[in-house]
This record gives sequence, C-alpha cells and structure tokens, in this order.
Amino acid sequence: MTFKRRVYKGIGITGRKSSGRLHFINNKSIDSSDKTAINVGAELIKLENARKKAIENVWTIEKNAREKIGHSEAQIFEIHAMLLEDEDLNDAIENKIKGGKSVEKAINEASEEYASMLLDIGDEYLSARASDIRDIASQLINALCDNTKNSKKTDTEPYILVANDLTPSQTVMLDKEQILGFVTALGTPSSHTAILARAMNIPAIVGAGEIDKLYDGSFCLLDSLKGEIIINPTEEEIEEFNKEKDKQSKIAIEHERYLRSIMNKPAVTGSGHKIMIYANVGDVTEIEPALSNGCEGIGLLRSEFLYLSKSTYPTEAQLFSVYKDIAEKMDGRRVIIRTLDIGADKKADYFNLENEENPALGLRGIRLCLERTDVFKTQIRAILRASYYGRVAIMIPMICCEDEIIKTKELIEKCKAELRNESLMFDEKIEIGIMIETPASAIMSDRLSKHVNFFSVGTNDLAQYTLAVDRQNSKVSNLCEQNYEPILRLIEMSAKAIKKKGGWIGICGEMAADLSLTQSFASMGIDELSVSTPYLLGVRGKVSECK
Ligand code: PEP
Ligand code: MG
Repeated sequence: MTFKRRVYKGIGITGRKSSGRLHFINNKSIDSSDKTAINVGAELIKLENARKKAIENVWTIEKNAREKIGHSEAQIFEIHAMLLEDEDLNDAIENKIKGGKSVEKAINEASEEYASMLLDIGDEYLSARASDIRDIASQLINALCDNTKNSKKTDTEPYILVANDLTPSQTVMLDKEQILGFVTALGTPSSHTAILARAMNIPAIVGAGEIDKLYDGSFCLLDSLKGEIIINPTEEEIEEFNKEKDKQSKIAIEHERYLRSIMNKPAVTGSGHKIMIYANVGDVTEIEPALSNGCEGIGLLRSEFLYLSKSTYPTEAQLFSVYKDIAEKMDGRRVIIRTLDIGADKKADYFNLENEENPALGLRGIRLCLERTDVFKTQIRAILRASYYGRVAIMIPMICCEDEIIKTKELIEKCKAELRNESLMFDEKIEIGIMIETPASAIMSDRLSKHVNFFSVGTNDLAQYTLAVDRQNSKVSNLCEQNYEPILRLIEMSAKAIKKKGGWIGICGEMAADLSLTQSFASMGIDELSVSTPYLLGVRGKVSECK
C-alpha cells in the first residue's frame, strides 16, 4: 500500500541532503501487558525465532565492532551471544510463557529477575553482567518486533533510520555504511547525539516529532539544511531535490578545492592573530580523517565515549592503549583529553547511577569523578602514562569552583607519585586545563586561571546553563539561536582572565564552528578553535578572512 505525501519539519544537523527508504527502529519498549488468552505454542515459536534473530544480530554487531573499534571491545558481544543461549535464562523465560505470560512479558520479567539476582550477589563482575542481561533482553524484544512488524527494509539496502530518540551510545554504534541519514522525534542541535552525527557527517534531523509508523519503508527526501523530510515526494520534488543536491555538491567541491589549498598554512587573521585549528573527536578512528583535514591538534577528546561503548569499566591498560595510540598518531601535536564527563544524557548502565530529578544539574562530570575516585584515578593514570608518547594535556569538565580544581590536581599528583614509584614514565610537565561551561567558572575565571595552563569554552553547556535552556529539549532549543550576547560576554571575560595569567584559551563547543562568530572570537584573542572534522577546513578558511 502507498501512503500520501507528507512533510515533517525538525532541526537539521549536518546541512547535507540524502534520500532513501525509511526504517523505523523501536526504541520505546513494546507493549508487554499480558494478553487475556495466549497461545503457549505460538509464543514459544515467537521466542525461538526472536532468539535466533537476536543471536544473528549480535554476531553482526560483534564483527562490526571488531573491525571498527577493536578486538577487546568486541568481546562483550561474544558474551551477549553466549547469554542469549544461556539455559537458565531461557528456561526461566519459557516457564513464564508456559505459566500464561506473553513472550514479551516473559522476557522482561525473567531477565529482570535474573539481573536482580546477579546484582544482589554484590560482586563487581556479576553486577556488570546484570546490565548485559538487560541489554540482551532488549535485543530479544527488538528481534521480536522485527519479526512481528514486518519492516519493509531489506538487509542489504542502506536506509534512513527513524527513532524516537537515539542515545549517544546507540549513535556511536551506528553502521555508517548502512545509514543514509537519521531522523529522531526528540533531540536538539547541541545534544550529544547531534554532535556525534556531525562528527560522523551523517545527514540528520532531530526534534521532528513522531513520524507515523505507517511510513516504514516509504521513500523520502531528507534535507538537513532546511530540517525537512518529504515522505512519498512527487516526481517534480525528486527532480528538484536531485538538481539542488548536484549543484550543492559542485559548489562544495569547488570550495573544498580552495580550502585544501590553504589547509597546511597557519590560520592567521588580517591583523596577524594566529588561531590554532583543532579537532573534536570521540575515538581513535576519527584521528586520520581529522589529520587529513588539516587539524593541528585535538582540542577535545570526549573520553566518555570510550566508556559508553563498553558494558563494564575499561581497565587502565585498555585506556592507556587507546590514549597512547592517539598520542602517537598525532605525532607531537597537542592532544587534550577531557576527563570523564559521564552523567546527564551520557549514561552507562554499569555506573549504576541513581535516577536524578535534574540530571544536567546533578552528579555529572567532575562531580561524579570526585565521588568515584577509584574510577577517576584509573583514567588519570592512563592519561599520564600516554603523555610519555606525545603532547598530551588533561582537561577537567564541569568546573564550578576552585576546590574542584584543587582536589583534581591533588589526585593527579597522587597518580604521578604512584607512577614514579612503579618506574612508569610520563610527562612531568603535562598541561592541565579546565572547561569553561558553567556561568560560575566564567564569572570566577580570574581566580580559576591561577591553577591551570588553559581554558577551553564548552559553549554547549555554557549556553544551556546561562540561558536556562535544556540542551536536550527541542521545545526550547530555538531560544539559544541568536541569543549569543550573554555567552560572548562570558567568553570574553574568561579570555581576559586567563591571558592575564599567561595562559591560553580555546573554544570547543559547537559555537566554535559557527562562521558568523569567528570574527568575534578572533577579536577577543581566542587562541584555538576546536570543531568536528567536517568543519575544520571551513573554520580555517574563515579565520584567514577575519580582520
Ligand atoms: C560543551 O559543553 O560545549 C562541550 C564541548 O562538552 P559536551 O558537549 O561534551 O558536553
Ligand atoms: Mg559540556
């Protein structure tokens, strides 16, 4: 059956266009209420089919993860495959079905009981397995949905993904070969999902509202500049869209040729102020593309993304190996590792964080790290050890007061002393910086500046906390647009403070890539702009046009 043409509007993320068939993923839990009378035999067959499909999916994910992230990270999916075949869990699900529960309810209940039992034992390893059990339960439910909803997507055809929302960890795991773009009902341009989409250069629209599931499998035109999705477009619209897409790509190729010609020249304004052009990355796979787009350093390694793609705490050895790899690949260029910024929208089950009323104002970033000093020290030791292999700097997120910097520096000193005792090498003079992403840190920047070598402004959070606009809420995200003045004043105040103490200042939030602000940043004497890889060339070009 074909459905009528329909247009949805949201907020475009990468400015790119894409077309293809829509594929809905069900990331809301499906209705698991018990049906009055169930057919036990039919439910058992559904379970068996879902189990086979889930096992198949897990091995595909394992293969992707092994190729893209590495063997040790992929091991978790081997564990998931084993758990899907676990006899105790399967017996428990089947017994619930035989006792009259629907397959969905049986999976949810049996897995929850199993997970709680593991958590009650109080062993760290088994607690981590509890979140694996929950993970495979949702994979079984998804496989069940796939079986029942008869999606019109074929497995080989790339598609435009539609979801209610995507978590940062789901976005990290997206298969770039298979995804032509994505549309989410929720989300805002400065959410971490949008940031990841930009880094991955995926055409995306967030905050589009709920798209009618009847359109699963329908052809659509996605314009992430206009923030528009046209489902079942007319022939004329397709023709116009393709013409515009061709024209845009010709202009883009021409412009890129010019930008590439200046790629290896320093970015200097007309008045002689040099700005370092750095890249924001989430893992080692982003280093090569950043370098081939002329990045002079890494201004923000969002180190928490490495934690989000795991199901238990990474070890010091695992972290060290990734950081060392990045430091070596950057070959003497600066690599700023932002310490763990878990909390708010970035959650990993194994941290077992309590639900908070206002997570963005809660136990997040440095606040959490100073409570979980064992986890924090593991990361600090890994960063310090990697500093021996390149020019690594440490950056602390979510700072609000001097005390947080003092406590963190004490922990860094403790880790340094341990490493010296163990004869492990590190850079004794490693630079330490903080993020300016709360109004308090900007207002107190004169005091904070005496403790650190540099500031980096996280405009995504600075805007959220200054303008009282939740960066996750699409209903208010327009209130940030064009209300830059308060943020610019705070940045200028911070720039003056750190420069007075002989330090330097960068900007690594999304505003760093906004070319309408480059002149203001240059005039304030900003020393570094750190942006996602697709924006590196454009920002470099814009700096050289500044006065
Ligand atoms: C910011 O807040 O601007 C920032 C760079 O950090 P994140 O987006 O990861 O919160
Ligand atoms: Mg931030």
